[in-house]
Amino acid sequence: MHIPPLTALQHYTSLTIFWFRRDLRLADNHGLYRALTNHEHVLPIFIFDTNILAKLEEVADRRVNFIYEQLQAIYSALQAYQSSLCVCYGHPVAIYKELAVKLKIQAVYANHDYEPYARERDQAIQDLLAAYHIPFYTFKDQVIFEKNEIMKNDGESYTVYTPYMKKWKATLEPHHTQPFDTLAHAKHFLKTTPLPLILRKDMGFQAQVYDFPPKVIDTQVIQQYDRQRDIPGRQGTSRLSVHFRFGTISIRQAIRVAQQTNEVWLNELIWRNFYMMILWHFPYVANRSFKPAYDAVAWGNDEAQFQAWSEGRTGYPIVDAGMHELNQTGYMHNRLRMITASFLTKDLLIDWRWGEAYFGKKLLDYELSSNNGGWQWAAGSGCDAAPYFRIFNPTAQTQKFDPDLAYIKRWNPTFQDPDYPKPIVDHAVAREQALRAYRAALESENWYSKPASAGERHSVARSGTSS
Ligand code: FAD
Repeated sequence: MHIPPLTALQHYTSLTIFWFRRDLRLADNHGLYRALTNHEHVLPIFIFDTNILAKLEEVADRRVNFIYEQLQAIYSALQAYQSSLCVCYGHPVAIYKELAVKLKIQAVYANHDYEPYARERDQAIQDLLAAYHIPFYTFKDQVIFEKNEIMKNDGESYTVYTPYMKKWKATLEPHHTQPFDTLAHAKHFLKTTPLPLILRKDMGFQAQVYDFPPKVIDTQVIQQYDRQRDIPGRQGTSRLSVHFRFGTISIRQAIRVAQQTNEVWLNELIWRNFYMMILWHFPYVANRSFKPAYDAVAWGNDEAQFQAWSEGRTGYPIVDAGMHELNQTGYMHNRLRMITASFLTKDLLIDWRWGEAYFGKKLLDYELSSNNGGWQWAAGSGCDAAPYFRIFNPTAQTQKFDPDLAYIKRWNPTFQDPDYPKPIVDHAVAREQALRAYRAALESENWYSKPASAGERHSVARSGTSS
């Protein structure tokens, strides 16, 4: 565990903590705004959570470096307000115990975090703080609508995107996207000399130079979005996913731009909100198919084929190009995420959870809700998924979305070499096999043609969360 020396803060008879998590920005930050408007001496903190770090395969994970760079920027910005950022390293409960003993904490503020681990962690922190009579306040920040804010008229949660999106838009009012003017209250940041910032090497990793996407909403790209977004060879999408993931850009700001600039982009931002809502209401999807019958698919799970897929050696140039982009940059264009996921689950008949976990290791923008939603969409098992018999043909996908081969040439330049790997499966044969495997699973359950009833969904949700 590491906590910077706190002697400079111990003379405060009362201070309030703002805890950064996935909202790494000072401007337009809801929880921070509430802390600064309600309290006088606000100390921002960040905890490198060793529960999370321990699960990363590589110590020098791109995401940890990304977070570190954002913290450095916040740390410098706070110096302009004669304040500082307290960066800790360890188990959050142990850290808070220490802080509660050493400092006179009036309250702790943070923004909501909806992932299953985060919900458990926050409950543990709330319980701990309660023992010290310290209130823990959290606020909605990373989405426009959360939890039960967009529900069907009968009170059930939505499970299909289009009606959800319509209700989302009908509910949206200007106040939902108004920025919180955090910095107007910057005088309430606690005054201190800079607290020493933990070094990367003290946490076991080295600084690496990565080319992170800039934190800028390029309105020219957004204006063309509906026409360019499906052409991976062009810069047709915003590349902002990592910033939404870590909250380095405010979602309210993005929605305002989307409203003024391009409805199709707005719809994509609503997909993000939709999948977060799904994970909130159906947390069992983190481990199981949204539609339970799909868990009966007899996956082939050939390890050598999985290895070939993950290393971009399937012999299908478009699939391999997508995997190279992912492995080299931590990003993959959405069209390629769909193509590579379809290939893994249908052509190779490998369990979507394997692919989901692989993306989870590699994606800089890894988001449990969207990644799980995307994978279950591709596998057919998701709430509003592609029908199982929709199987992407890699050749047809190339002709349609990469006709000049610009994307393949960029990420898979050896694709025309004589020793380029031969296709590891024949698409036409693999397609038939997949159809048979899916049909066998679904017909035995008589499930494929009907959605789950509300009762079925909830009973599954309960058993899922309790297991
Ligand atoms: P843009 O096209 O500019 O869209 C703007 C923003 O809208 C994105 O940054 C993202 O926050 C959101 N968005 C766009 N498309 C989707 C979508 N289909 N579902 C949910 N949100 C969306 N997105 C992630 O953020 N994290 C993931 O881990 C992730 N895993 C995926 C896995 C699979 C198999 C698939 C098919 C999709 C996945 N997506 C994921 C969704 C999508 O591919 C990325 O959000 C998008 O490619 C990011 O690029 P961009 O920022 O240029 O997006």
